Amino acid sequence: MKFWFGIPLWQRVVGALILGVVTGFLWGPDAESIKWIGDLFIRAIKMLVVPLIFFSLVSGVAAIGDLRKLGSVGGRALLLFIVSGQIAAWLGLLLGTIIQPGVGVDTSTIEMGPVPEPNPTGFQDMILSVVPDSPVQAMADVNVLPLIVFSMLIGIGILMAKKDGEPAQRIFDSGAIVMQKVTMIVMEMTPFGVFALMAWVAGTLGMDALVSLAKLVALNYAGCLLIIFVMYSAMVKFLAKVPVRDFFRGIIDAMAVSYSTASSNATLPVTLRCTQRNLGVSQPVSSFVVSLGATINMNGTAMYLGLATLFGAQIFGVDLTWGQYFLITILATLGAIGAAGIPGAGLIMMALVFGAVGVPLETIAFVAGVDRIMDMMRTTTNVSGDAAVATTVAAMTGELDREELISADDV
Ligand code: ASP
Repeated sequence: MKFWFGIPLWQRVVGALILGVVTGFLWGPDAESIKWIGDLFIRAIKMLVVPLIFFSLVSGVAAIGDLRKLGSVGGRALLLFIVSGQIAAWLGLLLGTIIQPGVGVDTSTIEMGPVPEPNPTGFQDMILSVVPDSPVQAMADVNVLPLIVFSMLIGIGILMAKKDGEPAQRIFDSGAIVMQKVTMIVMEMTPFGVFALMAWVAGTLGMDALVSLAKLVALNYAGCLLIIFVMYSAMVKFLAKVPVRDFFRGIIDAMAVSYSTASSNATLPVTLRCTQRNLGVSQPVSSFVVSLGATINMNGTAMYLGLATLFGAQIFGVDLTWGQYFLITILATLGAIGAAGIPGAGLIMMALVFGAVGVPLETIAFVAGVDRIMDMMRTTTNVSGDAAVATTVAAMTGELDREELISADDV
């Protein structure tokens, strides 16, 4: 016991990740028998998402103190989300154009996966769904975006109520602290959950599908790594003036959890903890930016949507014009905003982009078999982006406590 807890959590998590992959490869498809341990872990962190967003966001918005500052934090975060999403989508197109992953793919060797139901909701419905009919329903369904809207309104209400709002604010402040403690307990399950999930993925990976789609998978990884290590590094170094190594050291838990769960939402409690405890982002800014980012800031997904559209166009010989390239980047950014932070959400959004530029939906069936392995990397990119934007916005608005910043030289 003493030995176990003596090892820092992030080292246990990274060790578990590597050990899980090795175990999965050795064990093969039977590794599925321990997947339930991973599911248990995901359930435990998902259990935290609703109360954590509710308490932290209300307490965070109220603690920001005035509506002007809330606007400046929100405005900066949104700007960074959109600009980075656009850059990511263009990067996907660039990689797809240069390397041409769809050219020469023998589609007859690929086992077709199911084509997910295209998202039936149009733009209007998307806007409508942001405002909950019932906040309780939104909570019960773990529907994050309407919950964020509701929590922000309560926070604004507390600010407007001034003295009369103080008792309510104290309840939410205390609730937020309690939820952080509960997160700490659940985080101790991380090494076991990550181990089981990685063993399952590595053991059940369709090797044949992986080989025929190797170029696409490799490009997805390359694009995501470029976003993480070039774009985010530049963001934290030049805009936030935070040492790049310290930044990555601070978010390593969130990266490992996002990689193994493939869900930004499920990782949210860990991202909040990393940004607050390791990077020194204030509780108000991190609650606000990270919660919002987990649902709408998905640069890995935006990049992949661009890349996959070119892949489909190349397989089926669809010629795309410059105008369609522009359309793809806009739809990829919107699709990434609309995608939920759950496994496979990017796959569903493909239908939106493909439909608009005439790429056959069968492409989705081709890539579905290896989507999980790409989704893991997309999600890590998405989550790292939330942390990068939170750190940058905090630095810009005087909400970054540099004393709290963990050093990469600390273990
Ligand atoms: N799984 C991703 C996420 O949760 C979304 C996607 O499928 O691209 O961030």
